[in-house]
Amino acid sequence: MSLSVPRSLSPSRVTSFTACPLAFRLRAIDRIPEPPSPHAVKGTLVHQVLERLIWDHEPGDRTPAAAEAELERAWDELSGRPELGELDLDAAASAAFRADAGQLVDNYFSLEDPAAVAAVGVEVSLEADLGGLRLRGIIDRLDRAEDGTLVVVDYKTGRAPSPRFERGKLTGVHLYALLCELTLGSVPVEVRLLHLREPVVITAHPNPQTLRGQRQRTMAVWSAIERACERDDFQPRPSGLCTYCSYQALCPAFGGTPPPLDPPELVTAALVR
Ligand code: SF4
Repeated sequence: MSLSVPRSLSPSRVTSFTACPLAFRLRAIDRIPEPPSPHAVKGTLVHQVLERLIWDHEPGDRTPAAAEAELERAWDELSGRPELGELDLDAAASAAFRADAGQLVDNYFSLEDPAAVAAVGVEVSLEADLGGLRLRGIIDRLDRAEDGTLVVVDYKTGRAPSPRFERGKLTGVHLYALLCELTLGSVPVEVRLLHLREPVVITAHPNPQTLRGQRQRTMAVWSAIERACERDDFQPRPSGLCTYCSYQALCPAFGGTPPPLDPPELVTAALVR
């Protein structure tokens, strides 16, 4: 059976397909839920704190004390939601989780001065057409520099990539720059990844060449997805990421069997959401 080709894609889905076509299929097409991971839940918590710190506070009030108060508020809200319960943390693990989130928020202050941030938006949702494909993405923070140029800021709570893998990790970054060009008509002068764990800042400077390369790569990934849909062929691609993959039980590389594919109309609906 040939699948209907989806017409919408996000940068994270592009990265997902590139990393492992089978995991992409199970996640984006079959939409098989993944259990919440401590890393993902903590990332959401810290993102929320930093977004509120910048967006809800005047520059002079963006202090470590304000960040701690925002963390307390976000932690209280999270405590009432099921995803924290599903992590099944005992009291000691819960305290360690909260303390680690606090450390990541503290580390943020060594990466930039929040009082100097001129944000034009947080959680900025962008959507654009690219060669018949609908490309969508959400930017953590969009700043305007003093000279009026745009700067994309992305918070990262996982480990920063080693220099060897840095280039690959910047693929998503250049996709956000491309989205800015397509939707806002303006290419960000800088894309800044704030890695809160180390802490370290990784910076990329988009230019016509990187944007052209990103367009070509995105369309190439899109063609590969189209071919995979036409042939019902989403191969597993084992790598170090398998350690963290929720789909090992459904993966032939681990002795599993993927479920039969959904009908085409469900596949299209899933990717357009
Ligand atoms: S276990 Fe590895 S190869 Fe299998 S689906 Fe997950 S990431 Fe892909």
